[in-house]
Amino acid sequence: MARYIFITGGVVSSLGKGLASAALGSLLQARGYSVRLRKLDPYLNLDPGTMSPYQHGEVYVTDDGAETDLDLGHYERFTGVPASRGDNVTTGQIYSDILKRERRGDYLGGTVQVIPHVTDAIKAFIQRDVEDLDFVLCEIGGTVGDIEGLPFFEAIRQLQNDLQRGQTVFVHLTLLPFIPAAGEMKTKPTQHSVKELRSIGIQPDILMCRCDRPIPDGEKRKIGLFCNVRESAVIEARDVDTIYEVPHAYHGEGLDREVLDAFGIMDAPPPDLSRWDEVLSSVREPEGEVNIAVVGKYTELKDAYKSLIESLQHGGIANQVRVNLEWMDAQIFEREDAAAYLEKVNGILVPGGFGERGAEGKIAAVHFARTRNVPYFGICFGMQMAVLEAARHLAGIKDATSTEFGLAGTPVVGLMTEWAKGDVLEKRGITSDLGGTMRLGAYEAFLAEDSRVADIYGTRVISERHRHRYEVNMEYRAQLEEQGLVFSGVSPDGVLPEIVEIPEHPWFVGVQFHPELKSRPFAPHPLFASFIEAALAQARLV
Ligand code: GLN
Repeated sequence: MARYIFITGGVVSSLGKGLASAALGSLLQARGYSVRLRKLDPYLNLDPGTMSPYQHGEVYVTDDGAETDLDLGHYERFTGVPASRGDNVTTGQIYSDILKRERRGDYLGGTVQVIPHVTDAIKAFIQRDVEDLDFVLCEIGGTVGDIEGLPFFEAIRQLQNDLQRGQTVFVHLTLLPFIPAAGEMKTKPTQHSVKELRSIGIQPDILMCRCDRPIPDGEKRKIGLFCNVRESAVIEARDVDTIYEVPHAYHGEGLDREVLDAFGIMDAPPPDLSRWDEVLSSVREPEGEVNIAVVGKYTELKDAYKSLIESLQHGGIANQVRVNLEWMDAQIFEREDAAAYLEKVNGILVPGGFGERGAEGKIAAVHFARTRNVPYFGICFGMQMAVLEAARHLAGIKDATSTEFGLAGTPVVGLMTEWAKGDVLEKRGITSDLGGTMRLGAYEAFLAEDSRVADIYGTRVISERHRHRYEVNMEYRAQLEEQGLVFSGVSPDGVLPEIVEIPEHPWFVGVQFHPELKSRPFAPHPLFASFIEAALAQARLV
């Protein structure tokens, strides 16, 4: 029988609810329990797939091809449990299902209402396929009091009564601001947030209070008293210098103990946090550093590259070095000489991207990396730009372009119109819907014998997650390979290119997939580990 932990937030957004949930999941896992984390998103989009990174940050793709909230990335990275389509739901999905059923006549003439139909659908989602687990952690997006969140709060309130006593625990994350003029930490916003929660029938069992300094005992007592929470369940969630410290920090404050107490579990084994110790010692005691240029479009919005940033850090952990990221807006290289910016870096990475803006700048960055022997890692769009650079400057196809930018020029990268997904042939055209229609999720690739990537992965068959609409046109393969850009990874049917590399270059790899979605702090992805290793070798040269 699964136990449910509901994590809600109050006072302000961006308190790190996703990270807190992930850390709690990892602590329970460290005590030997099986866990699964889910995210309920109150917005109306069916999924974040069509939202701008400015609105939503990164779109996290699961093995089974769902485009989900970036918090699922935290969950996977902290617990190692692969997320799936069933772990993220939005109001849009709930309503879309209900309206389809209504049209089919499933409600037998009844009036379809928020209570019970929407709340029932939310409850069914929360409880789907979790019977064998010890704990299900469910995070509700947004903050208590948001109008669009109400059905979700109502659903979890009802679940408390639907399920057995002691089968649900409510954790509420709030902020304790320090007001310099008063020289005091203020508890009032937390009191109001809990009041709001209680007014809709939810009494939190545990409060996690984000703060930038220790909470005085007197304040903890006061919070407990005014929020109707036992004092020991007021958990200090203080800022830490690295996110890998969070599980240790929360354990130190008694979070997992309090959660287990709230369930009445008294005999839990102590947590084994050794995997986090190893990660922390590598982060805290680096034996060197490398500088990596990330040449992208949303460089001012780091949430757009959440998994990428983490994976580069994991590459650092694998090599016991600090990885400094230098964010560069690709468009700079359309106006100025790339050398002025890239001369000093030890590696260049062009991440995933969409649209023409900045593309020429990215191609310029690739050109610099290739001709100056600087390690280059191209991810998805970054691979496509690497191919365009080689097509133009090595293969002499001067007007090589992608049809993503229009129909002029030679389409070395073009719209993918069909591909095999298992036994099914997926088909797309220029008029297909934009939402959910890319080549999404895990696909296998076969790696060429003696290639650099086969050596890096230590295997010839890999599975990686994808999210793209365009592909490198195989018609140009022979021409490009003659010039030294080798197609070292292809789809099992040989139709789609998955990896290109330049064997003569110190480290030049472009991948059509997103390896950053599968890297973990305690299991760094081999491509990131190898890229950072190459950057380190480059750093030692200069
Ligand atoms: N825009 C490119 C495509 O759709 C690359 C996508 C990406 O980088 N995720 O194929």
